Amino acid sequence: MPLWTELTHPDFIDASNRTEVVVLITGALEAHGKHLPLGTDTILPDYLAEKIAKETNALVLPPIPYGDSWSFDPFAGTVSVSPETLVHLYHDVMKSVFNHGFRFIIALNGHGPNAALLQQAAKRATAEGEHAVIIVNWWIDFAKTARKVVLTTPEGHAAEDETSEMLFVRPDLVDEAKMVAGRVETKYRIVSARYREDLLPNAIYGNPLDASADKGRIIIEEAIEELMELVGQLERGKLPLLEKDE
Ligand SMILES: [Zn+2]
Repeated sequence: MPLWTELTHPDFIDASNRTEVVVLITGALEAHGKHLPLGTDTILPDYLAEKIAKETNALVLPPIPYGDSWSFDPFAGTVSVSPETLVHLYHDVMKSVFNHGFRFIIALNGHGPNAALLQQAAKRATAEGEHAVIIVNWWIDFAKTARKVVLTTPEGHAAEDETSEMLFVRPDLVDEAKMVAGRVETKYRIVSARYREDLLPNAIYGNPLDASADKGRIIIEEAIEELMELVGQLERGKLPLLEKDE
């Protein structure tokens, strides 16, 4: 059970001798429509990581539950951390992990705006030594086949995909009676602190009405399989490069 938080110092030494792979979950605390909990972007990748922690030697760090949630700041309950702070925090955690002798960090990310910040942090954290950070935007990179098969509406924020996943993982936290659809499209990228609520009405982008626990299960199961495969590859010392058939 290699959850970093639960190991004693001597157990940690044993556990770290068995693997070179660490999983870092990066989430957010932000409004997700009126029907999903604020911690959705942390709860989902945390669930995936917990599943693999039971099956592999990879060590799982406690999640970083705050992200850059500027777009959702006007909505009650959102707690946002500045990009500058996050880059420093991600970098310091990565560096500290590498200093313990690990070689690979899987940044299992649950929130879009964190991705570019993880990349900046990783550039600096891998400057020396034979280290790599593999950034996985799990809702994009994993379960592509399952999503194509089960989803009837486009993916989005608190949309059919995320709602289905939460209905499978934490149905007790989904308020289905409060589900509404909403998707404001713009021709250009509009950046405005003043108009955030007009651009993302009800803190939603998409349609959750067709969501189901069964769709969520199919997506999550494929995601766990892919995460297991990635960990396995890294534990064999291989970067996850795509094979080209030439
Ligand atoms: Zn989300």
